[in-house]
Amino acid sequence: MTDNDFYKKIKDNWQDILLVLKDLYELPEVSYKTWLLPLRPDSFRDGTLSVVYPGDRLGLGYIERKYKYCLIKSIETVCAEKCEVTFICEGDDIPAPGKNSVSSYITVNGNRLNPVYTFDNFVVGNSNKFAQAVSLAVAESPGELYNPLYIHGGVGLGKTHLMHAIALFILQNDPTAQVLYTTCESFNNDLLDAIRNKNNYSFREKYRNADILLIDDIQFLSRGGEYIQEEIFNTFNHLYELKKQIVFASDRPPKEIDNIDDRIISRFLQGITVEILPPDYETRIAILRKKEELENYNVDAEVINYIASKVKSNIRELEGALKKVILYAKVNNREINLALAEETLKDHLSSYTEQEITSVRIREVVAEHFGLKVTDLASEKRNKDIAFPRHVAMYLCCELTNDSLKTIARVLGKKDHSTIIHGRDKIIKDMKTDDELRGKIEILKKKLSPSG
Ligand code: ADP
Ligand code: MG
Repeated sequence: MTDNDFYKKIKDNWQDILLVLKDLYELPEVSYKTWLLPLRPDSFRDGTLSVVYPGDRLGLGYIERKYKYCLIKSIETVCAEKCEVTFICEGDDIPAPGKNSVSSYITVNGNRLNPVYTFDNFVVGNSNKFAQAVSLAVAESPGELYNPLYIHGGVGLGKTHLMHAIALFILQNDPTAQVLYTTCESFNNDLLDAIRNKNNYSFREKYRNADILLIDDIQFLSRGGEYIQEEIFNTFNHLYELKKQIVFASDRPPKEIDNIDDRIISRFLQGITVEILPPDYETRIAILRKKEELENYNVDAEVINYIASKVKSNIRELEGALKKVILYAKVNNREINLALAEETLKDHLSSYTEQEITSVRIREVVAEHFGLKVTDLASEKRNKDIAFPRHVAMYLCCELTNDSLKTIARVLGKKDHSTIIHGRDKIIKDMKTDDELRGKIEILKKKLSPSG
């Protein structure tokens, strides 16, 4: 079959291909509807089928890991011929991307890196300047200053961007450097493969020969089994002794990762820990401007200001909002102005704008922050690990909400509202002398209200 015939066959049989996939892999209806039905063939070149996924990059990554192989098999089953598959996001190349378009990853020495995620393209503001400075220092002198570097912060705030920036910087200075960027999940998958194939040797060779090892989303360590913890621990020790740089990123500080060994936590804490906070208004504007420059957009200040004032806590969403406005203008053949921006984002802003601070939300955020279950936080349990976060929650509820003591007591599982006053006062008293506690309270306030 020629490429053209093959592609036509794929298009003609697309629904069948998806259905066969569903049957072959016994997918639940909901997975089929969520991930597969929205897919459509986009083009075919050099034996590779491009498939469009009309969602965000996060979903795209997931589909790629989970369904790519299945799709290849199913095409083979239906069309009796094999092809490669790549996935692309809808709107990836709209509008006319600049030369730095975010759409393409590159592979450098086996690392899948986004060439746009450089230090040059990282906008520095109060919320991230320490993290950026330390990352740059690490990139300039790997293994010498801060080892390991542990970066943490909320979703979409630039952790992965900084990790890629470190990797790209090092590779640019020394293209032969053994840089290894991976996620906790693929480290785990590699390890499981090695165990399954009884090939620990090549696994170890891969990870232990690295000059710089970067592991993203390390919070998922708690989901893997004992093996992965053991292996991370040993890999870490091996590289550390050889003075090789190690970088971790996580959505939380080391002590708040559940179910992991203390000895691993103490390794994380051995070097330096830096936090990225949500960006302030000026930084959000600067980020949108940077994005505009990279993609050759041309957007009025009032539109930029409007988006920056609406989308506060997540840079990925900030960029998404700008992209959406531009796409909307293009599709409807309209000028980009404030009215259009308001129209485009009206339905979406509810998820972007900050949620109101209520006792219920405080309960969730505090539980998440301390790695507790909400039910434990609001229980009768009295051990210190729980009692202290509970006092913090009491304090924050009194401080930040208009809820009555009775409501707060109910939300925190207490019968008596004098308990709430007691907890609040304890924190107020301790804060006078305890800097660390004051810091914790600040972080929690930021989490509850990212823009301050
Ligand atoms: P995280 O890994 O913390 O969830 P990412 O690093 O994936 O977040 O960042 C999300 C998006 O926001 C990326 O497109 C990234 O380039 C962008 N971004 C984050 N921080 C900055 C920054 N300071 N300057 C420019 N872009 C940023
Ligand atoms: Mg990330």
